[in-house]
Amino acid sequence: MIGFWWKPLLTLGAAALLATVLGLIFGPLAAVSLFCLSLLVLYLVQLWNLRALDRWLRKPEEESLPDGVGLWEEVFANLYRLLKLQSRSQQQLVSALERLQNAARAIPDGVVVLNGQDQIDWCNPVAERHFDLDLARDRGRQIIYLMRQPAFVAYLAAHSHSEPLVMKCPRNRDNTLSVQLVPFGNDQKLLISRDITQLERVETMRRDFIANVSHELRTPLTVVGGFLETMIDVGEMDEEQRRDYFRLMQDQTRRMQRLVEDLLTLSRLEGPQTTLAEEHVDMPRLMQLLHSDAVSLSGGRHRVTLEVVAPQGLTGSESELHSAFGNLISNAIRYTPEGGEIALRWEMRNGEGVFSVRDTGEGIEHQHIPRLTERFYRVDRSRSRETGGTGLGLSIVKHVLTRHQGKLEIDSEPGKGSTFRAVLPARRLTAAS
Ligand code: ADP
Repeated sequence: MIGFWWKPLLTLGAAALLATVLGLIFGPLAAVSLFCLSLLVLYLVQLWNLRALDRWLRKPEEESLPDGVGLWEEVFANLYRLLKLQSRSQQQLVSALERLQNAARAIPDGVVVLNGQDQIDWCNPVAERHFDLDLARDRGRQIIYLMRQPAFVAYLAAHSHSEPLVMKCPRNRDNTLSVQLVPFGNDQKLLISRDITQLERVETMRRDFIANVSHELRTPLTVVGGFLETMIDVGEMDEEQRRDYFRLMQDQTRRMQRLVEDLLTLSRLEGPQTTLAEEHVDMPRLMQLLHSDAVSLSGGRHRVTLEVVAPQGLTGSESELHSAFGNLISNAIRYTPEGGEIALRWEMRNGEGVFSVRDTGEGIEHQHIPRLTERFYRVDRSRSRETGGTGLGLSIVKHVLTRHQGKLEIDSEPGKGSTFRAVLPARRLTAAS
């Protein structure tokens, strides 16, 4: 503080001393005039500095801060230091905000920041996609003018937002969003959205799967239960009828057994911990085995032919491949009427290994083909059940082939027959053994 005063006091003291010396030489009038003149000069200097400060304050971003004269030199220097400090902390704030916005942009969920009037302050690109927004266009607009779905409007107006709202995506009605409002700060809100389409699909598949399995098990259980009830009620029964009942019950229990076995196979194939056995599969030998299985399964009702055109083998799980190829053969036999032909073939095509089963059976209408590998999908339910099908065979085939990086190709013509091809990649082929 003393540092501030000594300069002006020294200036005033010097002016007073000069005036006194002049007064001694030229009289008191000269002394007073000189002193007044000095005060006037000092006053003008203050005014000049004030004017410079005023000019700078009006356009601080255009004008540079004046240097100042006298006392003002230090005032301006202090002001300059303050400005530098302020701009540094402002830069820090801006970069912190940028980091936050970058982080919010990278979040896989949609984020919309709403102010107290539910106007959009900011949103990330995911939210733009989810709610069909454009930040540049919609900033400052009220969200309910942009999202008019009644369920959303009601959710926004509700007092409690502890539960998320499940709604259709405004941009793409096939997708489903889970939306939650989270209050923060001073009356502000975060609107968080998550695309749950995939989750919903999985949930629907799970529900359908349980319903299908229950249905598949209920039918044979009802049949077995019915026979048992009849046998208890009737009491005495002739031997032949009793044997008939037992045989029918046995058919139904076998059906349940097949279903449970197929379900277990599927769950083992789908399990993430099941690693694929990488063993050598001698395909020509396996083809012979499959052929004799097919002949005995057909029981002489079909002509079953075998062609092993390629000597190559495969690397993979022999038991899985055996079961997949066996499923294709069993389908061909089950869906081909007596007298038909079933041709098994192992060949090379463009460097890939192709196992095919061609039949002259009932064939499949074009529209069913893409869905055949879905669990429990059947073209004709009663035909599948009559022939002992579980509706899971082609699902198992698809899983086994996928595990071997292969694929299933289906060609079929109703009334003429079908060809199912299991195509295995070149890197799985091994030289003839
Ligand atoms: P399923 O146990 O019912 O045979 P799959 O998954 O093996 O179940 O087959 C699904 C459906 O594909 C069958 O219900 C049947 O309608 C059809 N299908 C499969 N293979 C053949 C075939 N070779 N000829 C005609 N239809 C077939």
